[in-house]
This record gives sequence, C-alpha cells and structure tokens, in this order.
Amino acid sequence: MILRLVFATHNTNKAREIQSIMPEGVEILSLEDIGCEEDIPETGDTLTANALQKARYVYANYGFNCFADDTGLEVTALNNAPGVYSARYAGSEKDANANMDLLLQHLEGREDRSARFKTCIALIIHGEETLFDGAVEGKIGHEKVGTEGFGYDPIFYPEGTSRTFAQMTLHEKSEQSHRARAFKKMVTHLNELK
Ligand code: IMP
Repeated sequence: MILRLVFATHNTNKAREIQSIMPEGVEILSLEDIGCEEDIPETGDTLTANALQKARYVYANYGFNCFADDTGLEVTALNNAPGVYSARYAGSEKDANANMDLLLQHLEGREDRSARFKTCIALIIHGEETLFDGAVEGKIGHEKVGTEGFGYDPIFYPEGTSRTFAQMTLHEKSEQSHRARAFKKMVTHLNELK
C-alpha cells in the first residue's frame, strides 16, 4: 500500500533532504504537486505552533494527509535567539547571508559560541495529529565556511566535528542533522502504521 503525504514546504532544499530518508511505500508530494502556490501562514511563536499551523492549513484546504516542519537556531549567548525567527533574523527578505552576518556581528567578542538547531514536525493522517522533534548541538564559527546546504550551515559546526554543515555532503549532514533526527522519528512512526 502506498501512503501519499504532502510535505507542506516551498523549500526545495528541504524536500530533497527528506525524500532521501523516506521508507519504501511512502510517496512524498510537493505543494506544487497539489496546486498550492500560496505562502502558508506561519505566525506562531514556537516551532510546534508553526509546524501545526502549516500542516493544518494543508489538511483543511486541500484534504491531503501531510506533514510540516519548522526549524530554529538557538544561540545560548543570545538568549536562544534567533530561534523561531531564524528565517527573518535580518529582515523579511529571508536572506541567508544577511542572517549569518547579523548573527556573527551579535556574537563578536562573545566567548560562548554554543548553539543548537531544533526541528519540530507535525504529521496529520486522517485528522490525527502527531508531533516529532529533533536537535543537534554545536558551535557558531567566526566566519562562513563551505558552500553546501543552506541557511546558517556555513557558520554551524555540529558537535564532534571540525567542519561546518556547509562542508558536508547531503548524506553526511543527514546522518546527524536536527531535521533528519526528527524525520527518523516520523519514519519509525510511519513504519509502525503499516
Ligand atoms: P524552516 O522552518 O525549516 O523554514 O527554517 C527556518 C530557518 O532556519 C531557515 O530559513 C534557515 O535560515 C534556518 N534553517 C533551517 N534548517 C536549517 C539547516 O538545516 N541548516 C541551516 N539553517 C537552517
């Protein structure tokens, strides 16, 4: 039996990351596949609220089983900012370079560079909502290094490595990333449903 799930994101980088870890029998549809071109509202003040809001929007308006995720980068020395506001840290343009520049500027002279990515996923199957989370601890570097990935990847060194996420292949990043950890929990859950 094939389980069709819509991934409620317009971010093709994320869709690509997730497709690679889905179990057999699960077919991922994109928002484009179901004709959803509008921006989905994301106005919560927690990762969980945003993930639920996006998944509920797709379920209510399009009637598809679906899931949505929301991720934030928490920096200890900045009272866990930018957190849920990571995408728009330097402004509504959601410019990854500007976001990293602002973060590096705010951390200038700060000794504590510890940070973590956190992901929350909301899954809705036939109206039943289930939440999953994942996190990865690490440190913020002093400059951007690497060209892979997206977002804050060039300045994030996951624990136990001397390379940023942007210096890793998609496969290497998926071995330890916040999002992969949350998605693996969702995959375990989907396997149990079969
Ligand atoms: P989203 O909720 O997944 O859209 O993530 C919000 C913001 O967090 C993104 O716009 C990125 O700036 C950042 N972000 C999310 N996931 C990652 C990642 O895997 N690496 C680096 N930055 C990320």
